[in-house]
Amino acid sequence: MSLNKLTIADARDLLKKGEVTSVQLTEACLSAIESADALNAFVHKTPEIALERAKAADARIAQGDAPSMCGIPVGIKDLFCTEGVPSQAASNILKGFKPEYESTVTTQLRDAGAVMLGKLNMDEFAMGSSNESTCYGAAVNPWRREGETTPLTPGGSSGGSAAAVAADLCLGATGTDTGGSIRQPAAFTGTVGIKPTYGRCSRWGIVAYASSLDQAGPMTKSVRDAAIMLQAMAGHDAKDSTSADIAVPDFEAALTGDIRGQKIGIPREYRVDGMPADIAKLWEDGTAMLKDAGATIVDISLPHTKYALPTYYVIAPAEASSNLARYDGVRYGHRASLSSGEGINDLYEKTRAEGFGPEVQRRIMVGTFVLSAGFYDAYYNRARKVRALIKRDFEQAFEAGVDAILAPTTPSAAWGLGEMKDANPVEMYLQDVFTVTLNLAGLPGVAVPAGLDAKGLPLGLQLIGKPWGEAELLNTALVLEQAAGFVSKPAKWW
Ligand code: GLN
Repeated sequence: MSLNKLTIADARDLLKKGEVTSVQLTEACLSAIESADALNAFVHKTPEIALERAKAADARIAQGDAPSMCGIPVGIKDLFCTEGVPSQAASNILKGFKPEYESTVTTQLRDAGAVMLGKLNMDEFAMGSSNESTCYGAAVNPWRREGETTPLTPGGSSGGSAAAVAADLCLGATGTDTGGSIRQPAAFTGTVGIKPTYGRCSRWGIVAYASSLDQAGPMTKSVRDAAIMLQAMAGHDAKDSTSADIAVPDFEAALTGDIRGQKIGIPREYRVDGMPADIAKLWEDGTAMLKDAGATIVDISLPHTKYALPTYYVIAPAEASSNLARYDGVRYGHRASLSSGEGINDLYEKTRAEGFGPEVQRRIMVGTFVLSAGFYDAYYNRARKVRALIKRDFEQAFEAGVDAILAPTTPSAAWGLGEMKDANPVEMYLQDVFTVTLNLAGLPGVAVPAGLDAKGLPLGLQLIGKPWGEAELLNTALVLEQAAGFVSKPAKWW
């Protein structure tokens, strides 16, 4: 088997036994990346850094100092600041920006010995569900509908991360999730993605979208790999006041495969109108699998679910409009050139008009509107109140003894590039119906590939856990992964 196809867990074990080197693994990934330009997943390649780090990792392993991520080649979403390496959040406004510093999450990965292969495509500032809103051009899903060549979206915003993992260009990748950006692309590409509890991973050095919702997490080929990679990414950071000073459990050790006696809630409000039969069936099958593994299944109600999308699409743009005010052409990246007689306001306006893409401009306008004096109470304040009710729904379910909640990850399989983008933008927002609730409530959620639809495209199930319950959640995800036995890979065309 080509080394780039290994899981993190298998590569780690082979590295420890001395049967492969990190340089070999890294070279295999670099050559896979070279022949995968059609996927447009890696947008800044860093082969020199990768090989240098791989050599250092091999030396470390030879000395017997080998944390689990040591020597493992990974891709990094372009939203993470990486020292001396372009970090553009897929935006023209950050063109040429090479941070002087490294984000906490990527620092932790680097210190654990992980090997950065390069930066991954995404939706601009993580706003989107299709990776089409990007200064680099869309990332492409390695999966295709059976018998068709229509290019499909890998999902978004972490579309490059998902495509790269699914196509075996790297062993794992970082993603971020504000309203589904780890879980939805994972579901669209047959990979695993976990959004941890808000505060589990430091946000320091990650370009901000909506600060009260953003969380980093791993995107991997298996649940075990997600546990291993999250371990290296998580933990308290004094530089992020919202990162929690809570001990990080041993996620991999929690993977016992035993969920007997667990109570799994099935939320009736997630049974939305027009749900495709494939997805309804997948959800039923997943429920049966957890039951067979010894869990008790209970119907639950999360009554405020129907308000989650409008609430999210008020809060996220509001926070984004404030966060993005810093891109003024003075400090970072792109700066518009001025004609004689133009002043500082022209500099701001021209820079922002040239640098931000249409979706980002739309969100800034919506955000500014809902925060404006006349509408603040009607929109932003009301959304904050509804957010508290959505969170309360989950708390009540957990108080009633539910350990985890099972739902689909997305209301459809991957769609064709252009199909959704050209429609009304609200059409695309509606696709986030099953994912945004967790971000509003701050809860962890994991997407597990669980089957194929009638056209041969992967579909994902989502498990939602209690705050700080990632270890238990990953264990339940492992049971689902094993029972579903999803082993399909996209047929190589790129
Ligand atoms: N699709 C959602 C949005 O556009 C979520 C994106 C994300 O999680 N970053 O806001």
